[in-house]
Amino acid sequence: MFDTVLIANRGEIAVRVIRACREEGLRAVAVCSEPDRAAPHVLLADHAVTIGPAEAAASYLNVPRLLEVAVDTGAGAIHPGYGFLAENAEFASRVAGAGLVFVGPPAAAIEEMGDKTRARARMRSAGVPVVPGSDTVDTIEQAVAAAAELGYPVMVKAAAGGGGKGMRVARDPDELAGGHERAVREAEQAFADGRVYLERYLDRPRHIEIQVLADETRAIHLGERECSIQRRHQKLIEEAPSPALDPDTRERMGEVAVRAAEAVGYRGAGTIEFLFQDGEFYFLEMNTRIQVEHPVTELITGVDLVREQLRIARGLPMLGGGEPPTGRGHAIECRISAEDPANEFLPSTGRIDAIEIPTGPGVRWDAGVRPGSTVGLHYDPLLAKLVVHAGDRPAAIARMRLALEQLRVDGVRTTAPFHRAVMREADFGAGDLSIRYVEEHPDLLREDRDWREVAIAAAVFFEESKAGVTPEAAGTDGHGSGPQEISAWVRAVRDL
Ligand code: ADP
Repeated sequence: MFDTVLIANRGEIAVRVIRACREEGLRAVAVCSEPDRAAPHVLLADHAVTIGPAEAAASYLNVPRLLEVAVDTGAGAIHPGYGFLAENAEFASRVAGAGLVFVGPPAAAIEEMGDKTRARARMRSAGVPVVPGSDTVDTIEQAVAAAAELGYPVMVKAAAGGGGKGMRVARDPDELAGGHERAVREAEQAFADGRVYLERYLDRPRHIEIQVLADETRAIHLGERECSIQRRHQKLIEEAPSPALDPDTRERMGEVAVRAAEAVGYRGAGTIEFLFQDGEFYFLEMNTRIQVEHPVTELITGVDLVREQLRIARGLPMLGGGEPPTGRGHAIECRISAEDPANEFLPSTGRIDAIEIPTGPGVRWDAGVRPGSTVGLHYDPLLAKLVVHAGDRPAAIARMRLALEQLRVDGVRTTAPFHRAVMREADFGAGDLSIRYVEEHPDLLREDRDWREVAIAAAVFFEESKAGVTPEAAGTDGHGSGPQEISAWVRAVRDL
């Protein structure tokens, strides 16, 4: 059994895993690139080693160096987090080959689920409903023939896909020809594997996924997360439970997810993703790792998923041998990324000068940055996750609104204004969601309201200064518009 874990990652997930290691009584070894030397994950670890320059290929993806550092620091296990090497079957087997424990499933399960066409075939034979689709289509002619059978619209998808890359929707044979070519090219670039296949394009589905856990003796599920709020097929907001599921459907999806995990001999934490439309659900893919959105499940179930990963990797029974708890209340997660929602989610770089972290009951802040951190272009723009838990969905939305009002990140633009707008939007409030939510609500991406807030605040200050009220005097003598009045104004405008 190991007592030291090397965390082959950075950012918020490295911080999260290091916390779990230390709470579990394990020594945590961090690795970092040169610009990450003062990053939070480095400061929180028991020991840290700089492994290379900023480029991920030379640092966080540098397999020989990672294995060397693990052996040198006495680590008996490697936790890959998500992204980077987390779903790389070859990495998992090289870790095992070096006599170390890979905190994740067996390499064979990663391999089986990593190729989407193979995973779909495997799932079909295990009796799991999959999105109707084709096998690999190598030529445009093959694609057109397969689409004629499936019916338009179709989606061209990369067999090796991930992160929303290599996907194209086609509504007729012409679009399909262009889409096929582009998807192949994108897949070759992103995954060095140009194989693509077709799926029927579901018109307005919801994205609902099931968290599974498996140890040596059994596989269980911990309910669902809804991740329909996406942009370009990448998740922005997640919640648990889904407002769309009735207990019966939840039960059926859970059973199917457990069956899917069992079919590939799964171990550890994993997620079975489904599309859900008109009461039917279809297997989309399995993520063989911890996911970004795992905290919403943790908050409603009280299960620490990362500690469970570590326990399973140590050969201990998951959940202390107990039964999975049923969820309580409602949790929502907003991904706070260094992207400008008013400007096509363009990456925003710079130095974070200050952060005002939201606090209060039921508020969780999982961050990979702190004041002084520099945000560059080398890594994923996710800075932190703001997660809330409350008694029911309306209470969770109210709590998130308040937390987002409190949040301030100075120095880079973030996605917080987008989240503020969603938390006020009526369809979101009603739980009327689909993966097309963002495109169906273009107003959310406009900055008008923020500008109006600034304009009104400025106007109030201007009037006050004309009347000779200094900021110090305002609000203390019962006259004028002090900070409290200004914030009341701002709130009133936000609610327009
Ligand atoms: P990736 O592995 O790149 O994340 P997924 O297969 O998990 O790709 O799909 C990501 C997202 O793309 C889904 O959540 C959904 O929004 C959209 N999507 C994927 N397949 C389909 C489909 N057949 N019909 C409609 N939307 C789809």
